[in-house]
Amino acid sequence: MSERVELVRYGSGAPLYDHGPEHPLRPARVFLTYLLIDDYRIVDGDTVASVDARSATDEELLLVHTERYLEAVKGAGSGARGSWATFGFGPGDNPVFPRMHEASARVAGASIVAAEAVLSGRAQHAFNPSGGLHHAMRERASGFCVYDDPAIAIAWMLDHGASRIAYVDVDVHHGDGPQAIFYDDPRVLTISIHQDGRTLFPGTGFIDEMGSGEAIGTKVNIPVPPSTGDDAWVAALEEVAPPLVRSWRPDVLVTQLGCDTHTTDPLAWLDLTTDAYRRAAALLHGLAHDAAGGRWVATGGGGYQWARVVPRAWTIYFAEMAGAAIPDELPHAWVEAVRHEHRISVPEFLSDAPMPAHDRDDAVAEVVSRVKRAVFPAHGLAV
Ligand SMILES: [Zn+2]
Ligand SMILES: [Zn+2]
Repeated sequence: MSERVELVRYGSGAPLYDHGPEHPLRPARVFLTYLLIDDYRIVDGDTVASVDARSATDEELLLVHTERYLEAVKGAGSGARGSWATFGFGPGDNPVFPRMHEASARVAGASIVAAEAVLSGRAQHAFNPSGGLHHAMRERASGFCVYDDPAIAIAWMLDHGASRIAYVDVDVHHGDGPQAIFYDDPRVLTISIHQDGRTLFPGTGFIDEMGSGEAIGTKVNIPVPPSTGDDAWVAALEEVAPPLVRSWRPDVLVTQLGCDTHTTDPLAWLDLTTDAYRRAAALLHGLAHDAAGGRWVATGGGGYQWARVVPRAWTIYFAEMAGAAIPDELPHAWVEAVRHEHRISVPEFLSDAPMPAHDRDDAVAEVVSRVKRAVFPAHGLAV
């Protein structure tokens, strides 16, 4: 079968997932990503197609969330009065916004469309840049996330015939939602590489969080120290994720591709450049083919350099998925469009200048060896 790849767009008929002008999660990050992918002409309408999202149904959202929570999200977003703080809403990270349910259901639906494309065999790989809202819990909003679209996509695939899923989360923050939601579910392997929870939201993601009951050993965390750079981060991902995912042999690989690991990101303190994303993209792509029959569902995630980094990072990932060789120099039309519409100057190349050598490499290697000692034996892997 020739490989088909899909880019899932937000589509029309739903309000934007927008917490307001003061909030760091700006919807423009997703639209500038579509625009950059388009200006690079990666979508050819044939083997690389673009499809519109639909909104998730209540029944689909209830695969992960509770009835009570859906009622709260609908009520809060339509201006009703209620004790919304009980569900994690309030000023700051998770302000209530108009039509919050409709917007959040569209993001979740976009990840379901990606999951449907891959599980049905219509596409080998599918990418939903608007998704990756990995902090939402069953009954609580958290960290800018209302509905947990990666967890919903995973639950949807398990409900539609998949028997094992691997989830790899490279956002700078711990992927605490999917981990918690599937903590006792032995069908879901979660692996999260993130900045150490002692130094960053949400304060979890330690090595000893390994799952419970029959699922012990299926939840894996690689907490790296602040200032970790490209080489050590890529080496950590490479030493832990491929052996585990290969031995797990999932039906589908799901990845959350947050790029708030970038050295210029205002919300966290890792020191990656876009070169790390290029290497992670190649690694995850190879892994999808080696371990999951090529079935790869990818979502966006965090990333708060909304114009300077996010579109470049996700274009790098999508070009890898699509097998497209693209020039390092960004299309002039895109650079000009961003300048014109947003009055912000952006880099003119996908590649960043290399960062100076790091002194954290030994500390990262020590974390990696602790992770391997903790979880590899449960998978029959040598440490
Ligand atoms: Zn994040
Ligand atoms: Zn491929």
